[in-house]
Amino acid sequence: MVSLEVLAKLCNACGVAGREEEVRSLMRKLLKPYVDEVKEDKLGSVIGIKEGGKNAPKVMLAGHMDEIGLLVKTISKEGYLQFAKIGGIDDRVLLAQKVMVFTEKGPLHGIIGSKPPHIQKEDERKRAITYDELFIDIGAGSQEEANKMGVRIGDVVEFDVKFAAINKDIVIGKAFDDRVGCAAMIEAVKRLEKTECTVYAVGTVQEEVGARGATTSAFGIYPDVGLALDVTVAGDIPGVKEVDAPTKLKKGPSLTIADSSHISHPKVLRLLTEAAEENKIPYQLEAGLPGGTDAGRISLAKEGVPSCSICIPTRYIHSPTSLLSLTDVENTVKLTVAAVKKIPKYF
Ligand code: ZN
Repeated sequence: MVSLEVLAKLCNACGVAGREEEVRSLMRKLLKPYVDEVKEDKLGSVIGIKEGGKNAPKVMLAGHMDEIGLLVKTISKEGYLQFAKIGGIDDRVLLAQKVMVFTEKGPLHGIIGSKPPHIQKEDERKRAITYDELFIDIGAGSQEEANKMGVRIGDVVEFDVKFAAINKDIVIGKAFDDRVGCAAMIEAVKRLEKTECTVYAVGTVQEEVGARGATTSAFGIYPDVGLALDVTVAGDIPGVKEVDAPTKLKKGPSLTIADSSHISHPKVLRLLTEAAEENKIPYQLEAGLPGGTDAGRISLAKEGVPSCSICIPTRYIHSPTSLLSLTDVENTVKLTVAAVKKIPKYF
């Protein structure tokens, strides 16, 4: 099983896209015992290298370190913070959230405020409030006071949510997208011990804004195979049709056949399904859903890299708190390990 302590640490860390420092230093520490070398590329992706045999194929595993979040855009005269969104966030989940504003003087508590219902006009009550009508209240009385508290334009804001286990299998928390992919990747590298392939375990930056870290790291590594470990929408909730989100919790990792940015390479897909079946690892398939992962950008490096995504079913992704099953995480690790071992037979 993935260590709960590791998963909690990774999820509680701050790493809004482009500001992954805290997660990066954690990833370096967590990968170090299981790889021969840890490097960074110039955009900040962490690369753990586990040397394989001479002329053996190179596999790039990618888990993105960044998460969705907010940035301080302006500080009003009255001391309220207006914000920009980083990554795909539904405006409707922002209202009344507790947040942390990371300033140079340390983190500050805040709340996303809006007009209370009592004083809203009829039409305001009927529609969803958009993010640009909201503000973060840090209790400052003026712009000057906010500045004195350490707030600057561009400071990162995160949802104030702590990791928790509901029972032995179900956990809830922030940033499962994609710290759970990072945790699964670390566990897979740990279990691989000696491998024929050379494994590059990459904690990528800026996935949520266009898989930018995967673009540069895949260019540098130019692997023979790319596997993105990420999350996908678990659609087993009220009001969701199977055709819109067929992946379910506790049914194993979902292999993405096609999404908005990528069509999985048939050889990699076959490698994964065979590895799953030989090892009796449950898996699901999804095709034609919107969204994308690092696999899309890895596949376009230089002359191309056969790639696929292995996704952990997760409910409520891109909202402040998500929910997932540790059994799915375990099966994702098992499948990744089994697939990496099979690569030399295919590539
Ligand atoms: Zn993701």
